[in-house]
Amino acid sequence: MGGASRWWLHHSIEALAAELKALGGTLVLRRGDTLRELSRLLQETGADCVHCSRLYEPWANTQEERLNESLESSGASIKRFPGSLLFEPDQVKNQSGAPFKVFTPFWRHCRFSQPPSFPAAAPRDVRWYKGNLESEALASWGLKPESPDWARHWPELWRPGSAGAEQRLRDFLAGPVMDYSEGRNHPAREACSRLSPHLHFGEISPRAVWHAARNLSDSKPDSAEQVDKFLSELGWREFSHHLLYHFPTIDREPFKPQFRDFPWLGNEQALRAWQRGQTGYPIVDAGMRELWQTGYMHNRIRMVTASFLSKHLLVHWRAGARWFRDTLVDADLANNSCGWQWVAGSGADASPYFRIFNPVIQGEKFDEHGDYIRRWVPELAMLPDRYLNKPWEAPAAVLEAAGVSLGKNYPQPVVDHKSARESALAAYAALKAGDTQAAPPD
Ligand SMILES: Cc1cc2nc3c(=O)[nH]c(=O)nc-3n(C[C@H](O)[C@H](O)[C@H](O)COP(=O)(O)OP(=O)(O)OC[C@H]3O[C@@H](n4cnc5c(N)ncnc54)[C@H](O)[C@@H]3O)c2cc1C
Repeated sequence: MGGASRWWLHHSIEALAAELKALGGTLVLRRGDTLRELSRLLQETGADCVHCSRLYEPWANTQEERLNESLESSGASIKRFPGSLLFEPDQVKNQSGAPFKVFTPFWRHCRFSQPPSFPAAAPRDVRWYKGNLESEALASWGLKPESPDWARHWPELWRPGSAGAEQRLRDFLAGPVMDYSEGRNHPAREACSRLSPHLHFGEISPRAVWHAARNLSDSKPDSAEQVDKFLSELGWREFSHHLLYHFPTIDREPFKPQFRDFPWLGNEQALRAWQRGQTGYPIVDAGMRELWQTGYMHNRIRMVTASFLSKHLLVHWRAGARWFRDTLVDADLANNSCGWQWVAGSGADASPYFRIFNPVIQGEKFDEHGDYIRRWVPELAMLPDRYLNKPWEAPAAVLEAAGVSLGKNYPQPVVDHKSARESALAAYAALKAGDTQAAPPD
């Protein structure tokens, strides 16, 4: 787990422990080999069954199978419940009985299947084990950063735990959802749910989200289109998990095999400039700084920054995915790997390689008033809108009046867009034949 996720996990466990305490129970914390620790716990308590929510990462599948075999041989059992997805990946199949590789038919199939059942309410009346059980102190796990405590402001931004998740969902459905279809493209608007870390950590079930959203569209028909769009984004989450489940190397290997030979440059200096938000492209730098300071980045900006790293800088998407994994509070193997492969052009149903985001146009189109850039790149705050996305074109007097000194308090662009685009297309053309899509005129 990356640093941001560890921070989240700490607070999520703390919230869960408090909820259990309010119900009269105690959360037991142990570290070590899962199988050994669970077996010890079964012996100590006399319990004969382990209940868990199913996960779909390759490690989780292996672990659950190991547990299953081992517990069965000792007379105990494990019950795995579908809780973290809407639809079970092994039950969603195309007409030939194979996994889907394209999102639209996948989601059409899911939407016309039996709707996901409503999640059961948390039990109120629980019989707790009365004996003393050894438990480690959460603080000893060192999940929270200490010196320096780079996350000290995060409790103002995030409220890990199921109460925080439910609050987010309520707030989102009470207003922002009505601007979702269009607003979700604009990073300065509060039009997205920010449910991703809560969903990742299992603090809210996607089924609960589905039913709450559907209830809204049933009771308020003018929200139906927005709700549908929102649910289709949950659909992308399903699709990513479906892909990871059926193609478990998708976090490492290109989904389209011809990308194995892609001539990545592996430029460390460029990677560092990107990580630090010092590329000289304001929309890219704003996104990378938002990520560093908050543990989150808006979806459109994830696409822009990922495209910039993999196509403008020709740095392998895996290096970008690693950085996201370390810095995102919602870091998720399925969504992150599929998001990166989609942008890099090597993924299932990916954006065609020749579609190279122009960071200047993206900024002008989706941060039209410059609020997002001005917030995260304050050294450019005084630049007029016209030059905000391309400070290198501003006349010297304009730069001086805005207090911008290129190369001193804000970098010159690390690459020129036009030549970077040409290099990316040349690298793509050099790939072995296999991808038949040709580059259209610019
Ligand atoms: C390069 C790249 C890396 C990404 N890495 C991650 C990651 O590590 N973890 C992660 O949860 N998402 C990831 N995403 C997907 C998406 O950016 C986030 O899920 C979304 O921005 C979270 O914000 P939200 O909760 O406000 O989303 P909303 O717009 O409110 O969407 C609701 C939910 O749908 C799901 N969702 C939305 N968009 C996507 C998508 N494109 N793919 C899969 N699920 C989606 C999320 O669970 C999200 O919480 C990545 C996207 C890209 C392009």
